[in-house]
Amino acid sequence: MRVNCEGCAGCCIDWRPVAPETLDHERRGRRDPLDDTYNLVPLTRDEVKTFLDEGLADAMTPRLFRADGRTNSVTVDGYDLAAIDGGPVFYVGLRKPPKPVGPFGLDPTWLDTCIFLDPETLRCRIHGSELYPATCGDYPGQNLTLDRETECERVERSYGGERLLDDDPPEKLRGFALGPQALGAKLFVYPDPEELTGVVDRLADGETAAADRALFVGAAVGSRPGTTAVDGEKAERGRKRALEANSWAGAVIEAWTRRAGRPGDDAEVRADRSELEERRGAPPTEEW
Ligand code: SF4
Ligand code: SF4
Repeated sequence: MRVNCEGCAGCCIDWRPVAPETLDHERRGRRDPLDDTYNLVPLTRDEVKTFLDEGLADAMTPRLFRADGRTNSVTVDGYDLAAIDGGPVFYVGLRKPPKPVGPFGLDPTWLDTCIFLDPETLRCRIHGSELYPATCGDYPGQNLTLDRETECERVERSYGGERLLDDDPPEKLRGFALGPQALGAKLFVYPDPEELTGVVDRLADGETAAADRALFVGAAVGSRPGTTAVDGEKAERGRKRALEANSWAGAVIEAWTRRAGRPGDDAEVRADRSELEERRGAPPTEEW
Protein backbone atom coordinates (compact mmCIF):
# COMPACT_ATOMS: atom_id res chain seq x y z
CA MET A 1 0.00 0.00 0.00
CA ARG A 2 1.32 3.44 -0.94
CA VAL A 3 -0.57 6.73 -0.92
CA ASN A 4 0.13 10.27 -2.03
CA CYS A 5 -1.42 12.39 0.73
CA GLU A 6 0.21 15.77 0.09
CA GLY A 7 -2.49 18.40 -0.51
CA CYS A 8 -5.28 15.83 -0.08
CA ALA A 9 -6.57 15.09 3.44
CA GLY A 10 -9.72 13.64 1.84
CA CYS A 11 -10.05 11.15 4.70
CA CYS A 12 -9.73 13.93 7.35
CA ILE A 13 -12.15 16.43 5.78
CA ASP A 14 -15.88 16.28 5.08
CA TRP A 15 -15.53 17.30 1.45
CA ARG A 16 -19.09 16.29 0.48
CA PRO A 17 -20.07 19.96 -0.13
CA VAL A 18 -17.39 20.26 -2.85
CA ALA A 19 -17.68 16.75 -4.29
CA PRO A 20 -19.16 16.44 -7.78
CA GLU A 21 -20.76 13.12 -6.78
CA THR A 22 -22.80 11.97 -3.78
CA LEU A 23 -20.56 10.50 -1.09
CA ASP A 24 -22.70 8.19 1.03
CA HIS A 25 -20.54 5.14 1.71
CA GLU A 26 -21.15 5.45 5.47
CA ARG A 27 -24.92 5.60 5.06
CA ARG A 28 -26.22 2.82 2.89
CA GLY A 29 -29.05 1.55 5.01
CA ARG A 30 -27.41 -0.81 7.53
CA ARG A 31 -26.90 0.70 10.93
CA ASP A 32 -26.62 4.24 9.64
CA PRO A 33 -24.90 6.66 12.00
CA LEU A 34 -27.28 8.95 13.86
CA ASP A 35 -24.99 11.95 13.34
CA ASP A 36 -24.02 13.43 9.98
CA THR A 37 -20.23 13.44 10.46
CA TYR A 38 -18.26 12.17 7.45
CA ASN A 39 -15.56 9.52 8.00
CA LEU A 40 -15.58 9.60 11.79
CA VAL A 41 -12.34 8.00 13.02
CA PRO A 42 -13.27 5.30 15.58
CA LEU A 43 -10.90 5.23 18.54
CA THR A 44 -9.98 2.19 20.59
CA ARG A 45 -10.66 2.14 24.31
CA ASP A 46 -6.95 2.65 25.01
CA GLU A 47 -6.85 5.60 22.64
CA VAL A 48 -9.89 7.18 24.30
CA LYS A 49 -8.04 6.79 27.61
CA THR A 50 -4.87 8.36 26.21
CA PHE A 51 -6.79 11.40 24.92
CA LEU A 52 -8.51 11.64 28.30
CA ASP A 53 -5.18 11.40 30.17
CA GLU A 54 -3.69 14.10 27.93
CA GLY A 55 -6.55 16.47 28.81
CA LEU A 56 -7.98 16.22 25.27
CA ALA A 57 -11.37 14.70 26.07
CA ASP A 58 -12.94 17.79 24.49
CA ALA A 59 -11.58 16.59 21.11
CA MET A 60 -13.82 13.49 21.18
CA THR A 61 -17.42 12.87 20.20
CA PRO A 62 -19.65 9.77 20.21
CA ARG A 63 -21.49 8.07 17.38
CA LEU A 64 -24.71 6.10 17.85
CA PHE A 65 -26.35 4.04 15.11
CA ARG A 66 -29.91 3.73 13.83
CA ALA A 67 -31.36 0.24 14.22
CA ASP A 68 -31.91 -1.52 10.90
CA GLY A 69 -35.00 -3.47 11.88
CA ARG A 70 -33.08 -6.76 11.98
CA THR A 71 -30.91 -6.01 15.00
CA ASN A 72 -31.72 -5.45 18.65
CA SER A 73 -32.79 -1.92 19.31
CA VAL A 74 -33.72 0.50 22.04
CA THR A 75 -35.76 3.67 21.57
CA VAL A 76 -34.49 6.94 23.04
CA ASP A 77 -35.92 10.39 22.22
CA GLY A 78 -38.02 8.66 19.53
CA TYR A 79 -34.98 7.21 17.70
CA ASP A 80 -34.61 3.44 17.29
CA LEU A 81 -30.97 2.82 18.11
CA ALA A 82 -28.90 -0.30 17.40
CA ALA A 83 -28.38 -1.97 20.77
CA ILE A 84 -26.90 -4.99 22.50
CA ASP A 85 -28.51 -6.32 25.67
CA GLY A 86 -30.75 -3.23 25.77
CA GLY A 87 -27.86 -0.72 25.67
CA PRO A 88 -27.18 1.50 22.59
CA VAL A 89 -23.91 0.67 20.81
CA PHE A 90 -21.50 3.51 20.11
CA TYR A 91 -18.06 4.49 18.90
CA VAL A 92 -15.98 7.38 20.14
CA GLY A 93 -14.38 9.47 17.40
CA LEU A 94 -12.64 12.79 16.81
CA ARG A 95 -14.59 16.02 16.43
CA LYS A 96 -14.78 17.78 13.08
CA PRO A 97 -15.34 21.54 13.45
CA PRO A 98 -15.58 23.79 10.39
CA LYS A 99 -12.16 25.00 9.20
CA PRO A 100 -11.00 27.06 6.21
CA VAL A 101 -9.25 24.36 4.17
CA GLY A 102 -8.20 24.01 0.54
CA PRO A 103 -7.91 20.29 -0.23
CA PHE A 104 -7.16 19.08 -3.79
CA GLY A 105 -5.92 22.55 -4.81
CA LEU A 106 -9.20 24.33 -3.93
CA ASP A 107 -9.24 27.85 -2.55
CA PRO A 108 -9.94 28.05 1.21
CA THR A 109 -13.45 26.72 1.82
CA TRP A 110 -15.37 26.15 5.04
CA LEU A 111 -15.47 22.37 5.46
CA ASP A 112 -15.87 20.19 8.54
CA THR A 113 -12.37 18.99 9.31
CA CYS A 114 -10.72 16.78 11.90
CA ILE A 115 -9.69 18.89 14.87
CA PHE A 116 -6.12 17.60 14.46
CA LEU A 117 -5.66 18.67 10.82
CA ASP A 118 -3.63 21.83 10.32
CA PRO A 119 -5.95 23.76 7.96
CA GLU A 120 -3.07 25.43 6.14
CA THR A 121 -0.57 22.63 5.47
CA LEU A 122 -3.23 19.85 5.51
CA ARG A 123 -0.92 17.80 7.72
CA CYS A 124 -1.94 15.92 10.83
CA ARG A 125 -0.80 17.57 14.06
CA ILE A 126 -0.56 14.25 15.94
CA HIS A 127 1.05 12.14 13.22
CA GLY A 128 3.84 10.06 14.75
CA SER A 129 2.81 10.89 18.34
CA GLU A 130 1.35 8.46 20.87
CA LEU A 131 -2.04 10.06 20.16
CA TYR A 132 -2.08 9.10 16.47
CA PRO A 133 -5.11 6.77 16.06
CA ALA A 134 -4.43 3.28 14.74
CA THR A 135 -7.29 3.70 12.25
CA CYS A 136 -5.52 6.72 10.72
CA GLY A 137 -2.21 4.85 10.66
CA ASP A 138 -3.87 1.94 8.87
CA TYR A 139 -5.78 4.04 6.36
CA PRO A 140 -6.68 2.98 3.70
CA GLY A 141 -5.34 -0.47 4.61
CA GLN A 142 -8.55 -1.70 6.25
CA ASN A 143 -10.54 -0.82 3.11
CA LEU A 144 -8.02 -2.60 0.89
CA THR A 145 -8.11 -5.69 3.12
CA LEU A 146 -11.92 -5.75 2.96
CA ASP A 147 -11.91 -4.92 -0.76
CA ARG A 148 -13.86 -1.71 -0.20
CA GLU A 149 -13.43 1.53 -2.10
CA THR A 150 -11.00 3.96 -0.48
CA GLU A 151 -11.31 7.71 0.04
CA CYS A 152 -8.15 8.03 -2.07
CA GLU A 153 -10.00 6.57 -5.09
CA ARG A 154 -12.99 8.84 -4.50
CA VAL A 155 -10.65 11.84 -4.49
CA GLU A 156 -8.95 10.62 -7.68
CA ARG A 157 -12.33 10.23 -9.39
CA SER A 158 -13.46 13.73 -8.43
CA TYR A 159 -10.28 15.75 -8.60
CA GLY A 160 -7.87 13.65 -10.69
CA GLY A 161 -4.27 12.98 -9.80
CA GLU A 162 -2.86 9.78 -8.36
CA ARG A 163 -3.56 9.19 -4.69
CA LEU A 164 -3.63 5.41 -4.24
CA LEU A 165 -0.24 4.49 -5.68
CA ASP A 166 -0.20 0.81 -4.65
CA ASP A 167 -3.37 -1.04 -3.65
CA ASP A 168 -1.81 -4.18 -2.15
CA PRO A 169 -3.35 -4.57 1.34
CA PRO A 170 -0.73 -4.15 4.08
CA GLU A 171 0.37 -7.29 5.91
CA LYS A 172 -0.33 -5.81 9.33
CA LEU A 173 -3.14 -3.54 10.50
CA ARG A 174 -3.00 -2.00 13.97
CA GLY A 175 -6.60 -0.95 14.46
CA PHE A 176 -8.51 -3.82 12.86
CA ALA A 177 -11.25 -5.19 15.10
CA LEU A 178 -14.42 -6.85 13.84
CA GLY A 179 -17.28 -8.74 15.51
CA PRO A 180 -16.99 -9.75 19.17
CA GLN A 181 -13.31 -8.69 19.19
CA ALA A 182 -14.46 -5.08 18.76
CA LEU A 183 -16.81 -5.13 21.75
CA GLY A 184 -15.55 -3.05 24.63
CA ALA A 185 -12.41 -2.31 22.61
CA LYS A 186 -13.71 -0.11 19.80
CA LEU A 187 -17.46 -0.64 19.78
CA PHE A 188 -19.02 0.08 23.15
CA VAL A 189 -22.41 -0.39 24.78
CA TYR A 190 -23.96 2.42 26.82
CA PRO A 191 -25.27 0.72 29.97
CA ASP A 192 -28.26 2.92 30.85
CA PRO A 193 -30.26 4.26 27.89
CA GLU A 194 -32.48 6.36 30.18
CA GLU A 195 -29.49 8.59 30.94
CA LEU A 196 -29.45 9.49 27.25
CA THR A 197 -32.86 11.18 27.19
CA GLY A 198 -32.33 14.52 25.45
CA VAL A 199 -28.73 13.60 24.60
CA VAL A 200 -29.79 11.51 21.60
CA ASP A 201 -31.86 14.38 20.21
CA ARG A 202 -28.87 16.71 20.45
CA LEU A 203 -26.57 14.12 18.90
CA ALA A 204 -28.91 13.70 15.93
CA ASP A 205 -29.01 17.49 15.50
CA GLY A 206 -25.19 17.82 15.73
CA GLU A 207 -25.57 19.97 18.83
CA THR A 208 -24.11 17.93 21.67
CA ALA A 209 -22.94 19.64 24.85
CA ALA A 210 -19.70 18.84 26.69
CA ALA A 211 -21.70 16.98 29.34
CA ASP A 212 -23.28 14.78 26.66
CA ARG A 213 -19.94 13.85 25.11
CA ALA A 214 -18.38 13.20 28.53
CA LEU A 215 -21.00 10.51 29.25
CA PHE A 216 -19.73 8.41 26.34
CA VAL A 217 -16.04 9.01 27.06
CA GLY A 218 -16.68 7.74 30.59
CA ALA A 219 -18.59 4.67 29.40
CA ALA A 220 -15.84 3.85 26.87
CA VAL A 221 -12.99 3.98 29.39
CA GLY A 222 -15.13 2.00 31.86
CA SER A 223 -15.79 -0.75 29.28
CA ARG A 224 -14.30 -4.22 29.71
CA PRO A 225 -12.68 -5.41 26.45
CA GLY A 226 -14.42 -8.37 24.86
CA THR A 227 -17.64 -7.79 26.80
CA THR A 228 -20.59 -5.41 26.99
CA ALA A 229 -19.90 -4.75 30.69
CA VAL A 230 -19.08 -1.28 31.97
CA ASP A 231 -17.42 -0.64 35.31
CA GLY A 232 -19.69 2.05 36.79
CA GLU A 233 -17.05 3.62 39.03
CA LYS A 234 -14.43 3.85 36.30
CA ALA A 235 -17.04 5.27 33.93
CA GLU A 236 -18.07 7.94 36.42
CA ARG A 237 -14.45 8.93 37.12
CA GLY A 238 -13.84 9.11 33.36
CA ARG A 239 -16.97 11.21 32.82
CA LYS A 240 -15.92 13.73 35.47
CA ARG A 241 -12.39 14.03 34.08
CA ALA A 242 -13.74 14.40 30.54
CA LEU A 243 -15.97 17.23 31.68
CA GLU A 244 -12.97 19.07 33.14
CA ALA A 245 -11.11 19.07 29.80
CA ASN A 246 -10.19 22.54 28.66
CA SER A 247 -7.64 21.91 25.93
CA TRP A 248 -6.33 23.80 22.92
CA ALA A 249 -8.58 21.53 20.83
CA GLY A 250 -11.71 22.85 22.54
CA ALA A 251 -10.45 26.43 22.14
CA VAL A 252 -9.71 25.89 18.43
CA ILE A 253 -13.14 24.34 17.83
CA GLU A 254 -14.73 27.38 19.44
CA ALA A 255 -12.57 29.84 17.50
CA TRP A 256 -13.29 28.33 14.07
CA THR A 257 -16.97 27.71 14.80
CA ARG A 258 -17.37 31.40 15.69
CA ARG A 259 -15.83 32.48 12.36
CA ALA A 260 -17.28 29.80 10.07
CA GLY A 261 -19.56 30.24 7.10
CA ARG A 262 -21.82 27.46 5.89
CA PRO A 263 -20.21 24.19 4.71
CA GLY A 264 -18.91 24.76 1.18
CA ASP A 265 -18.82 28.58 1.46
CA ASP A 266 -15.67 30.37 0.35
CA ALA A 267 -13.46 31.25 3.29
CA GLU A 268 -11.33 34.35 3.58
CA VAL A 269 -7.76 33.79 2.33
CA ARG A 270 -5.74 34.38 5.49
CA ALA A 271 -2.11 33.68 6.13
CA ASP A 272 -2.46 32.78 9.79
CA ARG A 273 -4.58 29.62 9.70
CA SER A 274 -1.87 27.49 11.31
CA GLU A 275 -0.94 30.21 13.78
CA LEU A 276 -4.51 30.74 14.92
CA GLU A 277 -4.46 27.14 16.16
CA GLU A 278 -0.87 27.16 17.41
CA ARG A 279 -1.40 30.35 19.44
CA ARG A 280 -3.99 28.32 21.36
CA GLY A 281 -1.53 25.48 21.99
CA ALA A 282 -1.90 23.19 18.95
CA PRO A 283 1.34 21.29 18.25
CA PRO A 284 3.07 22.27 14.99
CA THR A 285 3.15 19.81 12.10
CA GLU A 286 6.18 18.10 10.60
CA GLU A 287 7.32 18.30 6.97
CA TRP A 288 6.06 15.62 4.56
S1 SF4 B 1 -7.68 10.11 1.08
FE1 SF4 B 1 -5.93 8.74 0.71
S2 SF4 B 1 -4.43 10.03 -0.36
FE2 SF4 B 1 -5.94 11.40 0.59
S3 SF4 B 1 -5.03 11.93 2.60
FE3 SF4 B 1 -6.38 10.14 2.93
S4 SF4 B 1 -5.01 8.35 2.72
FE4 SF4 B 1 -3.94 10.11 1.82
S1 SF4 C 1 -6.11 12.31 13.47
FE1 SF4 C 1 -4.87 13.12 11.82
S2 SF4 C 1 -4.89 11.58 10.18
FE2 SF4 C 1 -6.56 11.10 11.64
S3 SF4 C 1 -8.38 12.11 10.74
FE3 SF4 C 1 -7.45 13.54 12.20
S4 SF4 C 1 -6.06 14.81 10.99
FE4 SF4 C 1 -6.58 13.01 9.76
